[in-house]
Amino acid sequence: MSKSHYQSPRGTRDILPEEAEKWRWTLNSFAELAQRFGYGQVISPMFEDLGVFLRLGEDTEVVSKEMFTFHDKDPKAPQDLALRPELTASICRAFAQHRPTTPWKVWYEGPQFRYEKPQAGRFRQFVQVGAEIIGEEDPAADIEIITLAWRFYESLGLEHITLLINSLGNRETRGTYNRELSAYLSAASESLSAQSRETLAKNPLRVLDSKREEDLEVISAAPTIQDFLSPEDGNHFESVCDGLTSVGIPFVISPRLVRGLDYYTRTTFEFAADKLQTAQNAVGGGGRYDGLIEELGGPPTQGIGFALGVDRILLACEAEGLQLGDSKPLDVFVVDLTGGSQATQITNEIRAHGFGADRSFGDRSIKAQMKVADRSGALFAIIVGDDELEKNEVTLRDLRGDGSQERVSRSNLVNALDASLKERYSQ
Ligand code: AMP
Repeated sequence: MSKSHYQSPRGTRDILPEEAEKWRWTLNSFAELAQRFGYGQVISPMFEDLGVFLRLGEDTEVVSKEMFTFHDKDPKAPQDLALRPELTASICRAFAQHRPTTPWKVWYEGPQFRYEKPQAGRFRQFVQVGAEIIGEEDPAADIEIITLAWRFYESLGLEHITLLINSLGNRETRGTYNRELSAYLSAASESLSAQSRETLAKNPLRVLDSKREEDLEVISAAPTIQDFLSPEDGNHFESVCDGLTSVGIPFVISPRLVRGLDYYTRTTFEFAADKLQTAQNAVGGGGRYDGLIEELGGPPTQGIGFALGVDRILLACEAEGLQLGDSKPLDVFVVDLTGGSQATQITNEIRAHGFGADRSFGDRSIKAQMKVADRSGALFAIIVGDDELEKNEVTLRDLRGDGSQERVSRSNLVNALDASLKERYSQ
């Protein structure tokens, strides 16, 4: 086959029906679980005023390098817009705009856009599901949000997920820690990679994110933020850890876990899929962002949430050999040898009764139509030829079992199909 002229843009891909079925099922599983936990869905725009995302921290890679930005065409409203690179900022903007009562418990799903260098498990358009609790300081909220993410992985059957958790304290703690860390890293800067030296000048905390081999030794001996936590933040973190233990969620305290975005305070966490390569094993993460809403023009309000990467979760499921989805084969395929209008009538009637039905188009031979019927995966075929039409009957043929067939009167078709399907599913 010759290559088509146009391909999906770099870092994006088409999800075709077989694969899309797994996606639909996975997204539905998350939606059901979140609703069961008492969260309501928010559907926000795919693009926002660029300013909303600048609040994520201008030194972060997401903001400085990876944003898809464009200009509003309206000359009267010159505005820089950006495709959303994540959803927490949009949810906080929506909260500041609508001021719902708290705690505001919401979930979301949808594509995010980051101008990244594409590689395995890293795309320019990728899908996240996530949840946020806004307006609640109680560590029980941290525990609930982590539990929701954990139960979601469990519901897919994933068994090899590690929860890493840390506390980043408050802004002051972060300031003090930043200075200490900066002093330490500057003294060791000779041993750091060129990229990390560059990062150090802008945001020392982000050096801890580096996965580059040459940085690891310096990072492993760096001071940890745990030693700088205020008593309140220390207690908050302890309550979160105790709560997770009491609900049976295993975790690893990871004192150097700082997350990609700048707005986190107190609890931060990440989920790693142990069966994936390190470069793509982050399948989700989140934390508290107690100052973000205020920065977006809202009242001082706490918040905690997570975002999970669905593209990577599906890779993790594949790596664990999990079969996702509960898709049933098509119930019936209608083969019409009398011109096609019978196929139209019968498929409509069957579909109206809630069965899955398909048909072929064009006036094709029985051989050609049976081939399509077979390829459709349908369990049964309904065949209408001249003889059947004359006697007001159809032939109902078993396509997956022994190939047996029976004549059924047209008026009894739905009942006969129902009985045959019940028998098939009881076997
Ligand atoms: P973040 O918003 O950066 O905390 O990312 C949350 C989750 O989204 C990550 O753990 C990944 O699973 C997923 N993710 C982030 N960036 C990408 C990307 N470029 N391609 C695929 N998944 C991503």
